[in-house]
Amino acid sequence: MADLPPLREVIAKHGLSASKALGQNFLLDEQLLDRIARIPGELTDKAVLEIGPGPGGLTRALLRAGARVTAIERDARCLPALAELAEAFPGKLRVIEGDALEVDHAALMGEPFAIASNLPYNVGTALFTRWMDGQDWPPAWTSLTLMFQREVADRIVAAPGSGTYGRLAVLAQWRAEAKLAMKVHRSAFTPPPKVMSAVVHVVPAAAPEDIQAVTLSRITEAAFGQRRKMLRQSLKGVSGALAAMESLGIAPERRAETLSIAEFVALARALGPR
Ligand code: SAM
Repeated sequence: MADLPPLREVIAKHGLSASKALGQNFLLDEQLLDRIARIPGELTDKAVLEIGPGPGGLTRALLRAGARVTAIERDARCLPALAELAEAFPGKLRVIEGDALEVDHAALMGEPFAIASNLPYNVGTALFTRWMDGQDWPPAWTSLTLMFQREVADRIVAAPGSGTYGRLAVLAQWRAEAKLAMKVHRSAFTPPPKVMSAVVHVVPAAAPEDIQAVTLSRITEAAFGQRRKMLRQSLKGVSGALAAMESLGIAPERRAETLSIAEFVALARALGPR
């Protein structure tokens, strides 16, 4: 296995002072990084897409686990450090300079792939939504292993009735298994962010039949947009929703956070494509 310099040295050598605008909070503890790289399961010769490799801490852990990594990084300052890593793992690391929000990930990868990332907080939810909300299912990716702010991670894995249950939970769970895989203390990052973090692991499951993802999204947007209101009020603007609730036996006095994911799915099915 390649003998790599400590990440602190890499950062010093290439002058990678953390940029707040790019959401840069680096992980330097290699044991922690190896634990994160184990979350997706066996990676030997698997294709992995990493967003935001930065100085390459998670990247080297994924490479050590045997993965073939494609990494998209927006900060050109990181490219020389990543080029050195690519040299240490010949043929195993491809680095794309660019904005991950502008890239078609499935086309870039061209084969089934796992996604692993210590996400830049400023684009994390937008990327997650994009990976989760496509109509085609299963998606091109086989699993997501993602570091989020703890509060966002809690919203992704939330159960009905809890204060954190909302659109993200329904999006993450209606056709996938979403688990909180690891809590990470803020002090593990350089520089430490203000909040705690957690790694979420998501694996696609069978999609319920006859559901349009956009219809479900429209319902949850309306329902949780006014989460304190009764559904009779919050779903007033969604045509057919009140009749569908009645036919499904969902009381109009209920609030969004009391509806199970199965009930949201049943509503979307009853409304059909629109
Ligand atoms: N993976 C490294 C680690 O764990 O130490 C760095 C993680 S840091 C939280 C987020 C990284 O994402 C930074 O390197 C940042 O430059 C990069 N980044 C921010 N916005 C991005 C975008 N839109 N597309 C690709 N990379 C981005």
